[in-house]
Amino acid sequence: MFIGGFYGMDIYFLMFVVPALLFSIAMQIMVKGTYKKMSAIGNARHLTGAQTALRVLEFYGVRDVRVERVSGRLSDHYDPRTKTIRLSDGVFGSATIAAVGIAAHEAGHAAQHANSYMPIKIRNAILPVCNIGSSLGIPLVILGYLMSFDFLITVGLALYALIALFQLVTLPVEFNASRRALHVIESQGLLEGDAYRGAKKVLTAAAMTYVAALVVSIANLLRFMMRFQRRR
Ligand SMILES: [Zn+2]
Repeated sequence: MFIGGFYGMDIYFLMFVVPALLFSIAMQIMVKGTYKKMSAIGNARHLTGAQTALRVLEFYGVRDVRVERVSGRLSDHYDPRTKTIRLSDGVFGSATIAAVGIAAHEAGHAAQHANSYMPIKIRNAILPVCNIGSSLGIPLVILGYLMSFDFLITVGLALYALIALFQLVTLPVEFNASRRALHVIESQGLLEGDAYRGAKKVLTAAAMTYVAALVVSIANLLRFMMRFQRRR
């Protein structure tokens, strides 16, 4: 009963979480729309995503990173454990504006890793603790609520806040990868004029989804704080 009501509607859900979710959905729509638009336009140099990634790696002097194809849509990522950039079907072999932007961004992550970029180190260091927070935070809040044990609620909320902290540290990492990407795209003339601005739009839209994820976490945190700390 309590747990059922826990996730149900309450005034704080409407006040905080609903606007945050609407913002998040708007950002998802924006990134998909921008990606679709910029995937329909070929780039003048006929550079594929894979070729772009290699150009960016070369620019930053990274020699031990592989570029592979991965299935899915917008599933592109850099895997630091295997030092592999994985580019999705729409990016790997596509010579579009979106492909250049996204591939360069993932190569930007590889360059961060190779250069021991500090926010990445901080993020990796706090990752294990944040994983505990994401799996234990809310169960502890519920337990504390059922047992009327406020200390447990506070600990649960603090653990839950670690998720938001992780998402916060993710932001400079994402913005920096895009900055590195755009720097190479511009200085090496991979894209010019409207094409460059198009790639920048794709990367900005993608970054906004990370901002939205943080906003949703903060909204949930506020909601739980207002709802469960209020009884004091
Ligand atoms: Zn990224």
